[in-house]
Amino acid sequence: MTDLPVLMYHSVGGHVPAALRELCVPPGLLAEQLAALRGAGYALTGLTHALALRDQGVAAAAVTVDDGYTDYVEHALPVLRGVGAASTLYVPTRELGGAPGWLADAGDLRLLGMPEVARLGAEPDVEIGSHAAVHVPLDAQPAARTAREVAESRRVLQDATGQEVRSLAYPHGYHDGRVRMGVHAAGYESACAIGHRVSPAGEDPLAVSRLLVGPDDKPEGLLARVRDAGTPGLSARFKQVARPPWRWTRRAVHSATGRYLT
Ligand SMILES: [Zn+2]
Repeated sequence: MTDLPVLMYHSVGGHVPAALRELCVPPGLLAEQLAALRGAGYALTGLTHALALRDQGVAAAAVTVDDGYTDYVEHALPVLRGVGAASTLYVPTRELGGAPGWLADAGDLRLLGMPEVARLGAEPDVEIGSHAAVHVPLDAQPAARTAREVAESRRVLQDATGQEVRSLAYPHGYHDGRVRMGVHAAGYESACAIGHRVSPAGEDPLAVSRLLVGPDDKPEGLLARVRDAGTPGLSARFKQVARPPWRWTRRAVHSATGRYLT
């Protein structure tokens, strides 16, 4: 078992308002970021495959993309294929086919429809994962509703794609013990949070840490983040303390816009 960097992307090449800037990476930069990781010897693949590679001691980085924006097909996939990377796309099933209603101002972001998600699920280099049914923080809902919706979204995606859905990403990254129990009971093998760190060996597979990758992550900087965050040294710990917690950022955006960021 080794540490596993799990990259978290959202929009690639979308035009978004300033508040969402951190969530949008230009296609050219995505290509450079992934090429840097590939050049450093990381196999780039979807979450489920990456977890298996980690268990085998293979140096891998997982590529995950949240929300299911249409630019995944238009901009992200050509880049991913250009560098030979597979990926996991997490979609909120009841939100598909329209604008992302959880964002106050989504710019030109639109969500893929279920037929497109079904087609993507047939591609060998795309893993479809669940981002729950409705894009709300699962820990803020009654446990019964969470359990119902994560099971529903897995069933709906499996019916549409004909593939087993093994992984989920928590909307907004939030989860607690009750949420994880519902996710486990629904049959998921893994679930992604945020965490801002490389997923350490032995981490709970239902609380996989991810690194938010944004437009300011130059390739060499991303490589340093991936390597440094995996080293439990003083500098990594200092950075973790020094970095403004994601929760604060989200609270600030929420209070300013009345909506959550991701
Ligand atoms: Zn999301």
